[in-house]
Amino acid sequence: MITRFSVAMTTSVALDLTKHLRRADGQEDCSFVLWRPSTGSRRTTALIIDLVLPADGERIVHGTVDFTSEYFLRAAGIAAEQGCGVGFIHAHPRGRRWQRLNDIDYAAEASFAAQAVTLTGLPLVGMTFAGGDAGYGARIWQRHAPRTYVPTEAESVRIVGGRFTVTFNDSLVPAPEATNRQVRTISAWGQDTQNDLARLHVGVVGTGSVGMLVVEALARTGLQRLSLFDFDTVEHLNLDRLLHATDRDVRLHRAKVTIAARAAHRAATAAKMHITKYETSVVEPDGFAAAADCDLLFSCVDRPWPRAALNLLANAHLIPVVDGGISVDVRGGRLKGAEWRAHVAAPGRACLECLGQYDPAHVPVERDGLLDDPTYIKGLSADHPLRRKENVFIFSASAATAQLNQFLTMVTAPSGIADTGAHLYHLTTGTVDYRLKGCDSGCPYDGQLCALGDHTPVDVTGRHTAAEQARAARRNAARRWPVRFQRRMDDWLSKHQ
Ligand SMILES: [Zn+2]
Ligand SMILES: [Zn+2]
Repeated sequence: MITRFSVAMTTSVALDLTKHLRRADGQEDCSFVLWRPSTGSRRTTALIIDLVLPADGERIVHGTVDFTSEYFLRAAGIAAEQGCGVGFIHAHPRGRRWQRLNDIDYAAEASFAAQAVTLTGLPLVGMTFAGGDAGYGARIWQRHAPRTYVPTEAESVRIVGGRFTVTFNDSLVPAPEATNRQVRTISAWGQDTQNDLARLHVGVVGTGSVGMLVVEALARTGLQRLSLFDFDTVEHLNLDRLLHATDRDVRLHRAKVTIAARAAHRAATAAKMHITKYETSVVEPDGFAAAADCDLLFSCVDRPWPRAALNLLANAHLIPVVDGGISVDVRGGRLKGAEWRAHVAAPGRACLECLGQYDPAHVPVERDGLLDDPTYIKGLSADHPLRRKENVFIFSASAATAQLNQFLTMVTAPSGIADTGAHLYHLTTGTVDYRLKGCDSGCPYDGQLCALGDHTPVDVTGRHTAAEQARAARRNAARRWPVRFQRRMDDWLSKHQ
């Protein structure tokens, strides 16, 4: 039984819906749609992949709209053939924002909810389009008793592409409570934008030098729900770049994600803050499923395997991924230059593979554990991207800022512009290169993998030895009494301050 539900679609599907449902004569219209499931650890999303538009005589527009059973059977037949579910959407021409189910709509959808499951094997998704502002409402019809189907309301409807637009269900995801801590922030972009930003469930994958800064910014900005992912333990060599990390954290073998969660709680300006930390990699099955619960992900990792997993989440599961990276050019011990990049992977934009952010040939190498094998790393040329580790706090701060700006532009669209392309910044020349085009032709992420959800034929997850070892080492350290004692004292102090 699905208890937490959401709907997502690409901008191009959303445009097709708007074109069909927003009639010049102001009357209601309807369409059947096809959907595929994307299952996270707690939330299920219906990915709307296509419309089955009514043929002549299949629907009757008379102020309101009716459809024939032939139309329903044709749509359900196409869905069954493609292994998809069937959904039904109708318009409220003057509606705005989240659309609730009224009595007439309830009876109409309930009348074919059982048949939809029988014909497709998947529950009926009901949707309402708000003609006033292109908002939505959505629900999924599930069996509660024999012949009794009941709608579970969605939390949100997400449109993913150049711009990221979310219609939230105010009764399940209420607008944030006003606080006196965000006066300046709200004066910059208004309460409506703040309500949209604050309600996004954002995942930060990798809470190292860049990720920690991203977490800080999101918490200060007033976001209410963060999921943080990192399996690593903080070490002395992180302290020159890791905001908030202390010598004491190193001695207590703290997970980076623990420091990030602590910092986010302290920096939070939202009245209520929900932070979930995962000491897992996004390539481990639990980590991947938890990432699929998020509305948007920040990629603050530098390895090919997690980037491949994130690229899949962006395109197959329609969860936009704000990615970045840093490369420092050092020759003969001297700084020759530095570059950092920031971009968003989402349908219609270039994917991480096309941007050259990882080489798919390196993914199996990392899966075999070779990137954590000193002998293998030693065998690579000194300037091999998998070998280079040079970095400083200032470049991390630059990359984090560039990623945060990409996020803000995509969600708030200042002056109506949401997509400014992929950015590559050069320290030496102070210039920026842009890539405005999407994926290279023939890229599978742009083609057959788009919005496949659970039906994706490749499993990018697996056992991650380095993550397992890091967690085991922390458990062992926690058994030693000085660490145990100091951690307890810290916990006590944090509760009694
Ligand atoms: Zn209606
Ligand atoms: Zn691509």
